[in-house]
Amino acid sequence: ISVFNTVPQAPPDVIFSLTAGYKADTDPNKVNVGVGAFRTDDLKPYVLPVVKKADTILFNNADLDHEYLPIAGTPSYTKAAARLILGENSPAIHENRVAAVQTISGTGSIHTGATFLSQFYKKSKKCYISKPTWANHRNVFALVGFEVEEYPYWNGEKRGLDYEAMLNTMREAPEGSIFILHACAHNPTGVDPTREQWQGIAEVMSEKHHFPFFDCAYQGFASGDLDNDAWAVRYFVEQGFELFVAQSFAKNFGLYGERAGNLTIVTKSSEETKRVFSQMEKLQRSEISNPPAYGSRIVDIVLNDPALYAEWKENLKYMSNRIIEMRKALFERLTALGTPGTWNHITDQIGMFSFTGLTASQVKVLKEKYHIYMTDNGRISMAGLSTKNIDYFAKAVDDVVR
Ligand code: PLP
Repeated sequence: ISVFNTVPQAPPDVIFSLTAGYKADTDPNKVNVGVGAFRTDDLKPYVLPVVKKADTILFNNADLDHEYLPIAGTPSYTKAAARLILGENSPAIHENRVAAVQTISGTGSIHTGATFLSQFYKKSKKCYISKPTWANHRNVFALVGFEVEEYPYWNGEKRGLDYEAMLNTMREAPEGSIFILHACAHNPTGVDPTREQWQGIAEVMSEKHHFPFFDCAYQGFASGDLDNDAWAVRYFVEQGFELFVAQSFAKNFGLYGERAGNLTIVTKSSEETKRVFSQMEKLQRSEISNPPAYGSRIVDIVLNDPALYAEWKENLKYMSNRIIEMRKALFERLTALGTPGTWNHITDQIGMFSFTGLTASQVKVLKEKYHIYMTDNGRISMAGLSTKNIDYFAKAVDDVVR
């Protein structure tokens, strides 16, 4: 009898099984608005032109070798990543209170941060995630032993942020709880707090000594402006918080499969930063030994070259603009069709996703009748829409909500 006799079957991953269903579908009109990856107007994957240039630089570098990177990653990369999120003039950087560790994309960064906290964070075993959130938040924090709780976020009636309820939960949570916050472009709702609301959130979190763990997977991708998308994190740093930021370069560099990420850590003093960093290195050693080189080399080249950096910002504008254009196009078509309900949330929301308000049964009809693939919660990836399928998509939505 096998030693694995009692291993139960795990459920398939929702997103990846949705993609599998889409791929198997032979209908010529099929639409994939499930997975969160950017697509061009031809619905093709997009290699950023600036990434192609960095590729060429790497390819032509005769001195390039395939030695191990340092355990915590390449310092020029991790420093540039920290600078990118915290800002050139961050007080924390000037006071040497920032450490950074290269990670396996955003997921690895969240995992490294969560594992560190599970060992060294003594104030609370409770970690709060937004309701709803990206499914991996629960997966990762539960895996390392946290009690995962939810804070209200989406108000279905308002089709917006449930701000007061969110604050109330923050007030009622045990002192020193960990709160996972989406730095920008909240996944799946596309709804971010306003700056004023972020100030209110920071105030309550400060009173209750909660620990902010920012997840930043869409910097520059959300609004097209890197500083704008980093505003909340920078505000929290200015307010004197110690915090973690999990950064992913999957979306904003289109380096999905290369797993380039970074964990930026802000503490109260350079002394603490040093000790925390030493433990991060120890942890990283046991988990992955050394981070992968390729994707981080591309990011390193671009972030540390003024001309390429400027070009990257243009590439970001192209991606964010296409998403914003698709939001407008969908809104206009639904309005023109007189589709029942209000649809302004589609243009109000930001980032890769829109939370349409479509119900699970409507989502089912969209799939069965129209070959349109989206998650049961009615979330659509705006990048799955294009000038070629937007009419078909809007008409299908119109049909199912009537
Ligand atoms: N956090 C959120 C909210 C995301 O949506 C994603 C990607 O979908 C990630 C983190 C990190 O993804 P990756 O591990 O590919 O960088």
